[in-house]
Amino acid sequence: AAKREGRGNFQFFSPAMNAATHEHLLLENRMWATLENGGFDVHLQAQVELETGRVIGAEVLLRWHDPELGSVEPGRFIPIAEESGLILPLGDWVLARAMALLAEWRDDGMDHLRLAVNLSARQFSGGALLSRLDELLAEHGIDPARMELEITETAAMRDPENTRRLLLQLRARGFKLAIDDFGTGYSSLAYLKLFAIDRIKIDRGFVRDIETNPNDAAIVDATIGLAHALGLGVIAEGVETLAQWGFLRDRNSDEAQGYLFGRPMPAREFREFVRARAQPVPGP
Ligand code: C2E
Ligand code: MG
Ligand code: MG
Ligand code: MG
Repeated sequence: AAKREGRGNFQFFSPAMNAATHEHLLLENRMWATLENGGFDVHLQAQVELETGRVIGAEVLLRWHDPELGSVEPGRFIPIAEESGLILPLGDWVLARAMALLAEWRDDGMDHLRLAVNLSARQFSGGALLSRLDELLAEHGIDPARMELEITETAAMRDPENTRRLLLQLRARGFKLAIDDFGTGYSSLAYLKLFAIDRIKIDRGFVRDIETNPNDAAIVDATIGLAHALGLGVIAEGVETLAQWGFLRDRNSDEAQGYLFGRPMPAREFREFVRARAQPVPGP
C-alpha cells in the first residue's frame, strides 16, 4: 500500500519537473565521479591593461569534459554543484589548482601575473575558506597579492555583514578582491564603501551593446566613475570588438577581459600566449 501511495505522490511531479530532476541527479553523479577521477580542468582567460593590451593576469575558469556527456558548460553545472554542496570540494580543487599554477609561474619568472579565482556563495559563507587559503599559501609559498578572489554581487549581498568581515580578513592576508558581474544583482552601492574590495568587474551584459545602447553606455560610464571615485579599479568583461575597447579606453576603464584579447585556454597554451604577447599590440 505504501508503495502504491508513493507512486501516487510521484504524479504530483510534472513530466518537465521529472526531466529537470533527472538531469540534475545525473549531472551531480557524474560530477562526483569526475572529481574523484581528477577529470576537471581549468582554462585561463587573459586579463589585460586597457591602455596597452598588455597581459596582466588571467581568470581561472572551470572546465568539464565528461566522457559520456561531452563538454558541459559552467553555466549548466555550477548552479547544480552549488545547490548540492559539491561546489565546496570542487571550489577547493580550483583554489589548489590556481595556487599550483602560481607556484609554477613564480619558478618560471612569470610572477608579475595575477590569477583571478571565482568563489561561490557557499565557499564564501562556509567558514573554512580562510584556514584553507592559509594552508594553500603555506604549501605553495605563494604571495597572496598574486591571487584575486572574485565574488559575485549576488553572493556578496546574501549576507552583507558576513561578507564585510570576511573581505576584511582576506584583505589582511594580502589577497586582491573583486566584485564579479557588477550591476546584475541587487544594487549594492551603499555596500561598496563597506566592502574591502580592490576591483569592480563590469558584467559583459553592459559591454555587449555599449556602442549602440545609450543606457548601457551610461551605466558603464557611471560605474567606471563610481569605482574611481571610491579608489577602486575597474575591469570590463566580454570585450569582443576594437570599438568596445576604444570606448572603454576613452572612459578610462583600467583593465579588460574578452574574446578580443583571448579566449579561455588551457594553462600550457596560456604560457605561450603570454610570451607571444610580450610586445604590446596595436589598439583602436
Ligand atoms: P564569470 O566569472 O563572469 O566568467 C566570465 C565568463 O564570460 C566566462 O564564461 C568566460 O568564458 C565568458 N567570456 C569571457 N569573455 C567573453 C567574451 O568576450 N564574450 C563572451 N560571449 N563570453 C566571454 P564561462 O567560462 O562559461 O563561465 C561562466 C560562469 O561560471 C562564470 O562567470 C562563473 O560565474 C562560473 N564559473 C566558472 N568557473 C568557476 C569556478 O571555478 N568556480 C565558481 N564558483 N564559478 C565558476
Ligand atoms: Mg568571474
Ligand atoms: Mg563575471
Ligand atoms: Mg559575467
